[in-house]
Amino acid sequence: MLASDNLPEVLSVRQAADVLGIHPDTVRRWDAQGKLRAIRIGPRGARQYARHDVLRLSHAQDERTRSAQRVVVEVARAIAGSLDLHDVAKTVVHAAVNIVGSDRCAIYLVNYDQGLYEPLFAVDVKMPDSTALFYANPVPMQAMPMDRLGLEQDGIVVLDDTETHPLSNPDVFRRFNTRTFIAVGMRGDEGSVFGVMTFGWRDKPHFVRDDDVFFAQSLGALAEVALSNARLFAQREQERARALAINTVLRNVNSGRDLSSTLTNAITSLVNQLHADEGAIWMTNADQTAVIGAAETRIYGQSRIGAGLLLADSPNIAQVAAKQAPALITINEALGEERRWFESLEVQASLFVPLITQDAFVGIAFVNYLQHTPHLTGDDFSFANALAGQCALAIERVRLLEAAEQRAAELEAVIEQMGEGLIMLDRDGRIVLVNRYAAQLYGMPEAADDPGSFNPLLCAYNHDGTPIPPEELPVYRAARYGETTTNVEFRIRRADGSESIISGNASPIVNSEGERLGAVVILQDVTARRKLETEKDQFLSIVSHELKTPLTTIKGLNDLARRRLTRGRSVDDVLPNLETVGQQVQRMEHLIGDLLDMRRLENGVLPLSMASVNLPTLLHEACERAQATTDKHKILLDVPEAPVFVQADHRRLEQVLDNLLSNAIKYSPNGGIIELTLLHENAWAVLRVSDRGIGIPEHGRERLFERFYRGANVVASEYSGMGIGLALSRNIVERHGGTLELESTSPTGSTFRLALPLPNQAATGEQPVEQTTGKP
Ligand code: ADP
Repeated sequence: MLASDNLPEVLSVRQAADVLGIHPDTVRRWDAQGKLRAIRIGPRGARQYARHDVLRLSHAQDERTRSAQRVVVEVARAIAGSLDLHDVAKTVVHAAVNIVGSDRCAIYLVNYDQGLYEPLFAVDVKMPDSTALFYANPVPMQAMPMDRLGLEQDGIVVLDDTETHPLSNPDVFRRFNTRTFIAVGMRGDEGSVFGVMTFGWRDKPHFVRDDDVFFAQSLGALAEVALSNARLFAQREQERARALAINTVLRNVNSGRDLSSTLTNAITSLVNQLHADEGAIWMTNADQTAVIGAAETRIYGQSRIGAGLLLADSPNIAQVAAKQAPALITINEALGEERRWFESLEVQASLFVPLITQDAFVGIAFVNYLQHTPHLTGDDFSFANALAGQCALAIERVRLLEAAEQRAAELEAVIEQMGEGLIMLDRDGRIVLVNRYAAQLYGMPEAADDPGSFNPLLCAYNHDGTPIPPEELPVYRAARYGETTTNVEFRIRRADGSESIISGNASPIVNSEGERLGAVVILQDVTARRKLETEKDQFLSIVSHELKTPLTTIKGLNDLARRRLTRGRSVDDVLPNLETVGQQVQRMEHLIGDLLDMRRLENGVLPLSMASVNLPTLLHEACERAQATTDKHKILLDVPEAPVFVQADHRRLEQVLDNLLSNAIKYSPNGGIIELTLLHENAWAVLRVSDRGIGIPEHGRERLFERFYRGANVVASEYSGMGIGLALSRNIVERHGGTLELESTSPTGSTFRLALPLPNQAATGEQPVEQTTGKP
């Protein structure tokens, strides 16, 4: 630069340019591709400058540079402390307008995914209103001259005149009425351009000076540092917020206990986190042909959903499902059915998010925007995907849970309804499950609902009545030592004193790793089976004994008669023997008849032929028959004078009376009086048979009317009999609507009481109550 003192009064262009520190007439050159190649100084004719003008200009320029430098420093200071993208952009843009003196200045961020420059902040000095109008909208990258290449290679694009510059897209600039344009790229750490700062001059081309470019670049660099910091910070903040959001969603969706609440939680979370107005979630079946569960934040009604979009009807949904990636569909992009759906719900845009677990497509979520179409970045889509992933997992979890619960419920129902008792223990021997049958078996129905209250140890006994120590019980051995036991029989005694014989099969429960988890025991009540077996044994021994006795007699008498006859004795000599044989045969016939009756009764095929029977007559005849069989006993009959009619099977009633009287005779071996009385009591005819016999011991008295039961005193003394007479008699009486009971007994005699309903009164069923016994 020339010293001002030595300057001539008139300066050449070159001299003036030297003083000003600029190129004389900045001629910029571009190559064929439109790349800025060089700035050349070229003498422009004979133009000359007055010294003092040049010095004044130089001075003004120095001033501008100094003040601009101050502003830049201030801006640098101001933005150094700010991490807010918008604040930084605002400060830089305002300063830029001041320093560079452009009519417009704006900062855009580059969204490579969508191919857009997205506005961050803009100032329009000459047309403030246009800021909101023009700069608030994203600009498609391909529409702009500052394409990626220009910015990424040189970092700056300068269009002196947008009408003529080869890089320019005059149509776009004409719309904005911008004649001169500078764009400065901002690069992030990763090296690629993340944003652009633009400067614009309206109306006519602006003479772009070197310092314009210099300031634009400095401000761009300033913005670059500040914005990339703020951007990083914002990114971190967003990541943090999104991680938190994902956490919140995770908590929310997993708090649902059932599918419906999980779906509702999921869609509410998605709508909130994606700042949408409403949403719906559809769960699909495996082949995605039907919606099997749905929830929505706006109630469209079931019919809407049902009649709504089937997956096959929606190409967009099909694509989202196929690509397994979310997509934002606007009403204008919606097709066919989908379009009608958008219109009827007045949806502007819908973000379709697939719900995918590791490998399965579970369903789809729609979050709807009713007022606008949101601008979603790649990050936003990833975020939506991450949220949806959590929802999908939660849905899958609940589904599995529900399926497992159902299986458990089914299993529980099977266990509950089993016709066998089931008790389950954990490995420490604690009872964790008692099914209803087992609970009832032990007489503790409440234990089915509260296994803890169940303590069967208290009541397990050996057959001889000694208690079984807990540690010896099969189920405990199975739980503790893994032993398997089959058909172990023991007795249980219930709180009410009743007993049962139980057969148990116990085995350990082992998981797939072979680890012992506890034990299970299956219990069967074998009381009836055992009783039957005992009865069968008794029956066989009784019947064979009972038949053997007369047979022995018959055989003996037969031999005797034969011997007598061969020895020439007369027929008269053997007749008494033959008569006795006849009696024994009759006795056998009776026995067999009783047995057959018993069978018929049990099979329900003992027919009764009912007729009017006069009891006093019947009793007279029975008395006579009984008296004819004994001399030792005196049978006294006490019946009313008047007839007492009942409806009865004459022959069967005779059978009952004969049985009672023959017992009275048989079990009073020393003879004595037997009383037979008939009383007419209200609606009942009451008959009593009393003897002075051996009585019935207390033990087993309650079993007197069971078939094959015989008192201990009679078994010991070898009284003949099969123990079916009383069982048969009671059965016959009951089929007449009456009762037969042992009224009293002592070692000096017994009284049996038989009550039969009198005609017309039978239906009332009310029996006379005797003061003495309180029984009918
Ligand atoms: P059975 O007399 O053939 O043994 P029952 O069924 O008639 O069979 O009687 C069952 C049991 O009841 C008898 O074995 C006996 O122990 C007892 N029993 C019945 N009647 C009398 C009675 N009058 N006195 C004493 N014991 C009786």
